[in-house]
Amino acid sequence: LTNTEGLTSELSDLDKKHLIHPVAVPKHHASKGPKIIFSKGDGINVKDLNEHTYIDGVSMLWNVNVGHGKKELADVAHHQMSKMAYSSTFYGYGNEPAIRLAEKISRLTPGDLNTVFFTSGGSESNDTAFKLSRFYWQLKGFKDKRKIISLRRGYHGVTVSAQRATGIDAFRNFSGSTDPDIVNAKAHLTECELGDKTHPEYSGCIRSVIEELGADKIAAVIVEPIQGAGGVHVPPEGYLKAVRALCDEFNILLIADEVICGFGRTGEMFGVSHWDITPDLMSIAKGITSGYAQLGGVVMNDRVADTIKEYNDILPHGFTYSGHPTACAVGLKNIEIVEREGLVKNAYKMGKELEKGFTYLEEKHEFFTNPRTVGLLAGFDLMKDPVVNIPFDSSVQAAVSVVEECYQRGLLIRCFDFEPGMNIVAVAPPLIIQKQEIETIISILDEAMTAFS
Ligand code: PLP
Repeated sequence: LTNTEGLTSELSDLDKKHLIHPVAVPKHHASKGPKIIFSKGDGINVKDLNEHTYIDGVSMLWNVNVGHGKKELADVAHHQMSKMAYSSTFYGYGNEPAIRLAEKISRLTPGDLNTVFFTSGGSESNDTAFKLSRFYWQLKGFKDKRKIISLRRGYHGVTVSAQRATGIDAFRNFSGSTDPDIVNAKAHLTECELGDKTHPEYSGCIRSVIEELGADKIAAVIVEPIQGAGGVHVPPEGYLKAVRALCDEFNILLIADEVICGFGRTGEMFGVSHWDITPDLMSIAKGITSGYAQLGGVVMNDRVADTIKEYNDILPHGFTYSGHPTACAVGLKNIEIVEREGLVKNAYKMGKELEKGFTYLEEKHEFFTNPRTVGLLAGFDLMKDPVVNIPFDSSVQAAVSVVEECYQRGLLIRCFDFEPGMNIVAVAPPLIIQKQEIETIISILDEAMTAFS
């Protein structure tokens, strides 16, 4: 055994013994151990302990937007940690990075989303958005407006309320947790939000849920501008505008979960900008620090913020790491890099390259279908016969196989198969990616699909 092989084997044994991994199969893991033990990253590439290189085709968890190994971010963290690594924002205490980052976010976000409540990640942001929405209505004298409507295939995280808002059954029902005030609309990005009551899925869409529950019981609707972990689903044209109008019509707040879309991933700074809408609250995380530190937040519009700012008692909500100075300093530097390196524009341009590559793959591989790319948030389906809409039967595991073939060839991507017949593959590389690297991803996908067929 070489030194690194010895280390890999030692760590693998320790991992099997002492760790439960998120979103992995515990039994499989306990016998096989970690699939890769990462040790380094540089640009769009990551390495394991044995110096084996992989292209990070999904930016880890759609978050490493500026790419791996950015020394500037390490330096800013080092600088802040050396001065004062942590101070609390409870009891009205402040710190410069949190204040400056809140101001920066208010300038970047659309409309009058001007006020931030910091969290440590996406799930906490969504739970916070739900609580603040309900609190807003309480302050306005509408104590019954408590319910939150979410969508099928939406993913909002794993804290109890975020989990119940997630429209993927395995997550939603895990461990029997409940929150009776979260209602998952059963329709999925269907045009019936545009007002067509004769639409076959009307009874499951947001409008019909509002009619059924009564607007006086509903605090907010939460949507991802583009659904990510539900399988990269882009809403139909006019959909988000219609949901915004619906919320206005019934006096309900709109929460946009920008945890994946935010900070440039889709070729706009925020996903909602593609459809020119402004939510009342926006959940952010991931791309705010490109994963270099744990940070999230809820950005509120003036209507919500001004009401909360009138509250004359202790606000009993907050996380130890709300406004963490080191995380916020990293967030500020990360946004500076995104702006300085023109990464939002690059995401748009490289998204077009990815789209060309997908067109090539669609022409060549008969089971490749339904490609979608919005900036560098991209996905496609694999079907036995796309022409007549016949999925692979469940014994085939097409998406899992293609992802495994890519892994064998040094490309990390993700698949989704949580509904019968669903075989979706997602591609979402760091926003720094260049044309040649996109071409490498496409040629690996090409080989992987040839190997699968
Ligand atoms: N919201 C969306 C849209 C997400 O994609 C995720 C995570 O993937 C979350 C919320 C949860 O974020 P976190 O894992 O940081 O709690």
